[in-house]
Amino acid sequence: MTKHCSILGIPTESGAGRKGCLMGPDALRAAGLPEMIQAQGYDVRDLGNLALPTKITPIDGPQHLVRLSETVAWAQHIHQASYEIAVQDTFPIFIGGDHSMAAGTLPALTQAAAEKERPIFVLWLDAHPDLHTLSSTTSGHLHGTPMAYAMGQPGFENVFPPVKHTVQPSNVCMIGLRSIDPPERKLIGDLGMEVWDMRRIDEMGVRHPIAEFLDKVRRENGLLHVSLDVDFLDPAIAPAVGTTVPGGASFREAHLIMEMLADSGLVTSLELTELNPYLDMCGKTADLMCDLTASLLGKSVLDRPTYRSVA
Ligand code: MG
Ligand code: MG
Repeated sequence: MTKHCSILGIPTESGAGRKGCLMGPDALRAAGLPEMIQAQGYDVRDLGNLALPTKITPIDGPQHLVRLSETVAWAQHIHQASYEIAVQDTFPIFIGGDHSMAAGTLPALTQAAAEKERPIFVLWLDAHPDLHTLSSTTSGHLHGTPMAYAMGQPGFENVFPPVKHTVQPSNVCMIGLRSIDPPERKLIGDLGMEVWDMRRIDEMGVRHPIAEFLDKVRRENGLLHVSLDVDFLDPAIAPAVGTTVPGGASFREAHLIMEMLADSGLVTSLELTELNPYLDMCGKTADLMCDLTASLLGKSVLDRPTYRSVA
């Protein structure tokens, strides 16, 4: 039976502190993302890039928030477009765009999951938990807030669209954290969230938390969304992100996670986010993000031919 995959470009950058993420979707295409997905046996439908709504309603929110009205307009627009894909018989890959895109994708996926009467789980691969509320963010950059919003944390009312079906904190696994602000740390503790910061990964590796999380998803017959932020990876292998943090996941740690996800057969959607091609080195980061996607879709180590470096 043919497997179907839909790619949706979401060129947000209003949530990030640096310009450039709007080029992310096209850089991933230039790196060969559709062809790499096809090579894994998928029929690929590229839906192109979403356009920012022409009508942006001015939002009267806290003054320190950067490009608020634009980000809210995007969230509504992304929600609608992602939902339409999430209810189809296809594997959606949302390619960003900064992580504020998740303020649209997460509520759309939770809505679609609720209609299927299945719980949704989120694997959040990121240096940051993105758990700021509109009042706790000091930078004002909204890419630091989508998880708090999708979980229904207070303070987003009357600014962002209401979230009908929230992400349950107990259904989220965060891996790779190494840049957490005090209000986010408090929220993680208050909500009892499962987080694997880099210290825990250093000590135990990535196999254990992924296996444990996948067992839980399987037991509960859940849908599984994977959100992969470029800054999850070590900046030495993935420099194209405006929020680099030293000490990220290695090439093999990241691939092992993707390979375990592929083996599980449980992943139902993927988000590639925060790629800023302006900061890349000859497409190195875009290539890696595509290669990790191929691993998640089934490419194994044994599928890799002899590597010949260019002299
Ligand atoms: Mg992020
Ligand atoms: Mg991040």
